[in-house]
Amino acid sequence: MNEERPLNFIEEIIEEDIQNGKHSGRVLTRFPPEPNGYLHIGHAKSICLNFGLAKRYNGKTNLRFDDTNPVTEETEYVESIKEDLRWLGFEWAQELYTSDYFEQLYGFAVKLIQKGWAYVDDSSAEQIAQLKGTPTEPGRPSPFRDRSIEENLQLFADMRAGKYMDGEKVLRAKIDLASPNMHLRDPLMYRIRHEDHHRTGNTWCIYPMYDFAHGQSDSIEEVTHSICTLEFIPHRPLYDWFIEKLEIFPSHQYEFARLNLSYTVMSKRKLLQLVNDGFVSGWDDPRMPTISGLRRRGYTPHSIREFCDRIGVAKRENIIDVSLLEFCIREDLNKSAWRRMAVLDPIKLIITNYPEGKEEMMIGENNPEVEGGDGMRELPFSSELWIEREDFMENPPKKFFRLGPGLMARLKSAYIVKCESFVNDENGNVKEVYCTYIPESRSGEDTSGINVKGTIHWVSVKHAATAEIRLYDRLFRVEDPGSEGRDFKEYINPESLQIIPNAYIEPDLAEAEVGRGYQFIRKGYFSLDKDSVPGKLVFNRTVTLKDAWAKEVRKS
Ligand code: ATP
Ligand code: MG
Repeated sequence: MNEERPLNFIEEIIEEDIQNGKHSGRVLTRFPPEPNGYLHIGHAKSICLNFGLAKRYNGKTNLRFDDTNPVTEETEYVESIKEDLRWLGFEWAQELYTSDYFEQLYGFAVKLIQKGWAYVDDSSAEQIAQLKGTPTEPGRPSPFRDRSIEENLQLFADMRAGKYMDGEKVLRAKIDLASPNMHLRDPLMYRIRHEDHHRTGNTWCIYPMYDFAHGQSDSIEEVTHSICTLEFIPHRPLYDWFIEKLEIFPSHQYEFARLNLSYTVMSKRKLLQLVNDGFVSGWDDPRMPTISGLRRRGYTPHSIREFCDRIGVAKRENIIDVSLLEFCIREDLNKSAWRRMAVLDPIKLIITNYPEGKEEMMIGENNPEVEGGDGMRELPFSSELWIEREDFMENPPKKFFRLGPGLMARLKSAYIVKCESFVNDENGNVKEVYCTYIPESRSGEDTSGINVKGTIHWVSVKHAATAEIRLYDRLFRVEDPGSEGRDFKEYINPESLQIIPNAYIEPDLAEAEVGRGYQFIRKGYFSLDKDSVPGKLVFNRTVTLKDAWAKEVRKS
C-alpha cells in the first residue's frame, strides 16, 4: 500500500485523537458484517479501511458478526465471511457475535426502562408508523407511552418469557416525538420474533434492533473508532443517546461513502436474488462482485487491496468504474502470471517441409516481466499445429501481419513460417493452412536474416491438452442497474457468459493449479476453475489484456 499518499479524513481524526491522548492513544476498530450473505467488493473496502487503520496505528480490529436477525442469518455465511477475510490477508483480534451480548443488551434495556427512558408499546407497526408524523410534522404519542415503570418492567419480562406473539408488542425508547430526526421519534429497541437463531437457538424470542445493538456492542468491546457508511449519519444521534443514557464506554461513530461499482449491484439482498432466481450459478459465480466470485474468477487478494487503496476514503458517494478494478488485476497478473499458449478458435496449420514424425522442444519464458526471469518451460513442436482462426485471412488487407496466401509470420518461441496454400471446408470456412518453415529461423538462434512483423501463438496438435474456457462479460448492460426505480433484473446482460467447450492448450497446463494466474498469450489472463477434474479442465478468463470497453467508448 502507498504510505506516501495524504492522510484520509479518518486518519486525520485518529492522529488528532492520539495526540490528545483520547483513549490513551489506543485504536480498536471492528468489521461488523451481518451473516446474511457473502461478502462483496464493497465490504472489502470497509475491511481494508478498518484493518488498515488498526495496522497503521498499532491497533486491533475485531470481527463482529452482527447477528440480531434470526430469520436471515446462517452459519454458512459466517464460515464464508471468515474464509474471505483470511484470503484477503487480514487477521482479526477477536471473533465476536452480537448474539453473545443478548443478555447484556437485555440488561441495558431494563436499565433504560428503570430510568423512564423506554416503554412497551402494544401498537401495531401500522399504528406506530401513522403516529410517527413526517419530517415536517411532529409525531403523536402512542396511548401506551405513559405506562408506569413497573408495568413496563413486567411487560418486557413477559415479552422475553414468550407470552406474546410476533408483532403484539415492542419496546421503544422514549426520546422526542417532535425531533426533526425521525430516528429519535421513539425508535424501536426490541421486537418479538419466535424464530430459531443460528447461535442462540430458541433461547430468545425477542431480538434487539440494529440501533439498540450496534452502538452498545461497540461500547462493550470498547471500540474507539466505529466506522460505517454515510446512510448511518442520521443514526448517530441515537447511537450517542443510548451510550449517554446508559453511561457506558463512549465509542464514537464515523461515516464514509460506501463503494458503488459500475455495471453491478452490491446489496446482499439483490445478490441473493441473483442466486435464488438462477441468474448466476451461486454466490461464487465468477461474474458476481462477491469476494468469492472474484477469487474464483482469478482475482488476487493483492489486486483487491490495491483497488481499495486507490479509490481512497470519501465523504460523498459516487460510482467507481469497474475498469479500475480490472486495471488493478491486470497490473498484478502482468507481474505474476505465467505465459502460456492456448488456441480458442482453432484451425490447423501444416508445415509441409518439416520432417514427418519429428518433434522438438522449444523453450519459452514463464514471465518476461519478472526481473531475472521466472523460469522457462518446454514447448513441444511438430509438423501439425493449432493456430487461431483469426490469425489467417484468405484476402488480407495491406497491414495484416499474420498469415494469408504468401504471407510470413513468426510462430511464438519457434520458427518463421510462410503460408503457401489453404483448404476450405464445405461451408467455405478455412480448415487447413499449408506452410513451409525456415529452418534457420528458430527463436533464440535465428540466422535467417528474415524480419517479420507478426508473431502468432500455436499449440502442437499431437501434444495439445484440451480445456473448456469460460469468457465473461459484465453481468449488467447498464452502468447503474441498481439505481432507484429500476428493477435491476431487467438489465442483465444475456451474453455475460460465453463457453468454449474445446480449446487447445499447452500440455503443461494439465498441471495448472487453482489460484495461480496464467496469461494465455494474446488472449487474456486466465485461471483454473474449481470445477476442473483431471481430464476435464476448465479455465475462467479473469480479464482481457486490454480494456475492450474503453476502446468501444473511444470509437463511438
Ligand atoms: P448490504 O446492503 O450489501 O447487505 P450491509 O451494509 O447491510 O450491506 P453489512 O454486513 O451490514 O452489510 O456490512 C458490514 C460492514 O460493511 C458495514 O460496516 C457496512 O457499512 C460495510 N459495507 C457494506 N457495503 C459497503 C460498501 N458498498 N462500501 C463500503 N462499505 C460497505
Ligand atoms: Mg446491514
